[in-house]
Amino acid sequence: MTDQLAVERLSKSFGPTRVLDEVSFSVAPGRFLVLLGPSGSGKTTLLRCLAGIERSDGGTVSFGTRVLADGRSHLAPDRRDLAMVFQDYALWPHMTAAGNTSYALRRRRLSRAESDRRVQEVLARVGLADHADRYPHQLSGGQQQRVALARALVAEPGLLLFDEPLSNLDADLRERLRVQISTLTRDSGATAVYITHDQSEAFALADEVGVLENGRLVQLGTPESVYHRPATPFVARFTGLAG
Ligand code: ADP
Repeated sequence: MTDQLAVERLSKSFGPTRVLDEVSFSVAPGRFLVLLGPSGSGKTTLLRCLAGIERSDGGTVSFGTRVLADGRSHLAPDRRDLAMVFQDYALWPHMTAAGNTSYALRRRRLSRAESDRRVQEVLARVGLADHADRYPHQLSGGQQQRVALARALVAEPGLLLFDEPLSNLDADLRERLRVQISTLTRDSGATAVYITHDQSEAFALADEVGVLENGRLVQLGTPESVYHRPATPFVARFTGLAG
């Protein structure tokens, strides 16, 4: 079983601009949180702070009993038991689908046979069993993102972070991949945080939706409660666009 993610009073400024303003929330083990907000609301910065790619100025991030970051310490990304799926896939161009996926297992002490078995199994799960030997340039955008999903899942991380993973794909593909992300993430048992500016995507995927406005978390609740009982005029306006 995975752990609870807890974020307390997380803050971050770039120069004089306060990009995250005392953001607090928690995600129960195995739950899927979507953080929704317009461009510039701080979604990417928040996700990067969770991943450990960005250092916050203040606040605490913990996962289960482990403190990932606080005022004194900052755990490196590869020590956080997490994997991230990026908007632009971020695959190594010189590695095949199997190579990109097995890269996530490089620090595990697995036999070659065991590593290969896990890679084949996860590529089959994302529907790419027949594409293991292809390079990214030989794959469509949707297929590349499925390789990125396989790479995120293969090490069985406790926490999965998604940075607008469907933004570069066309509408039909977005819908299919959205279902796949939802199913595979929930089957994996991981706790998930997914950021998007797309209201319908947020409501379709989330166990809970958090709405960000200018670096502040202005509402957090089930998709139904956020949609039907918006806490502020901003939330009403922004989520209303989904209808
Ligand atoms: P979102 O993902 O919601 O679009 P971001 O987290 O990317 O929001 O950005 C929030 C704000 O922080 C924006 O005003 C952006 O210009 C600013 N910002 C993000 N990264 C940096 C940076 N490295 N240096 C300066 N400003 C930044």
